[in-house]
Amino acid sequence: MKYNLSVPHLSNDKRELKYIAEAMDNRNIGPVGRFIAEFEYAVKKLTGAGYALGVINGTSALHLALTAMGIGKGDDVMASTFTYIGSAAPIMYVGANPVFIDSEGDTWNLDPNLLEDALKKRVKTPKALVLTHIYGQPANMDDILMVCDRFGVRLVEDSAEAIGATFDGRQCGTFGTAGIFSFAGNKLLTAGGGGMLLTDDKHLIETASYFASNAREPMMHHEHNSIGYNYRLSNLHAAVGLAQMELANERIAARRRIFEQYRKAFAGDSRITLMPQHHKAKGNRWLTAALFEGVEPKMLMVKLANQGIETRPLWKPMHTQPVFKDADRYVSRVSEKLFESGLCLPSCSTMSDDDVRAVAAEVIGMLDIIG
Ligand SMILES: *Cc1c(COP(=O)(O)O)cnc(C)c1O
Repeated sequence: MKYNLSVPHLSNDKRELKYIAEAMDNRNIGPVGRFIAEFEYAVKKLTGAGYALGVINGTSALHLALTAMGIGKGDDVMASTFTYIGSAAPIMYVGANPVFIDSEGDTWNLDPNLLEDALKKRVKTPKALVLTHIYGQPANMDDILMVCDRFGVRLVEDSAEAIGATFDGRQCGTFGTAGIFSFAGNKLLTAGGGGMLLTDDKHLIETASYFASNAREPMMHHEHNSIGYNYRLSNLHAAVGLAQMELANERIAARRRIFEQYRKAFAGDSRITLMPQHHKAKGNRWLTAALFEGVEPKMLMVKLANQGIETRPLWKPMHTQPVFKDADRYVSRVSEKLFESGLCLPSCSTMSDDDVRAVAAEVIGMLDIIG
């Protein structure tokens, strides 16, 4: 591949290697060491969250959030349907029932009107809403918070893709009871695998930390009153995560610049629609996603791959996944249509403006041929 979708962007001064070397030299390569606390601090500083807990990935961070909130067997949890499985699987891990809500066209994220309709119809108040900010663009927080407030539903933000994105100036991941980030290899910032749980609730973070450490009681020997999980982040991964956090603003600016270049290149081409954005939102533009008219996106994907351009279908909605065939849902056709007509385009922060223009020209040329 000449143009990848999203590969890790390591710092020019090889900071990641320097920090890893330090961790190695000190033999602090397990779940103890200075990089863990500093990585957590960097996330708190960027977001303004009161507490942050580093864990092995975003999925486990979400699992811990639901666990620490006391959500369990038989509880209902509302969730965005237009998302990645890592957003929905934790609802199943705790034995709760996911209730999927469709997207709105304006943000591609959860539709506040559908949420309100759903809550009016439910007999039982759900224990939480797991809300995704898709591709790093914020959901309509004004309306969603209003509905959650009115019905007494606690919010958990799946901000896995949305580090540094803001709505009305406030950081995604800090609107609800808890929020999570992912630092997987393909995300805007990576720890080579890692996740972060954010909250302002001291009790929640302490409970999450307890469950992340195999529910070890505070005693000299290993004492266990409950079953937890082995979710603690290693100092080695935190070393990479910290190095990446130190360049967060540059990396986000680069993704936004790439989106802007695509926007200019596609302007005036009625066959291509880039993802929209709420007027109060400032997405991090993790991936530039576009909808195409008159072509089958998977065919376009194969043709572009032959030219060395890596693209990917949009997320397949959870309510259309075989594993969730029995799950409750409140859906329109919005997310299904997105899946049927969209692709994510190469969005690596290493791309130059010329790179983006070259990709855009290939896309347009391909549409002329196969469209
Ligand atoms: C990446 C991602 C996750 C999970 O993150 P991992 O670190 O891979 O476990 C969850 N939700 C969404 C929307 C994601 O994109």
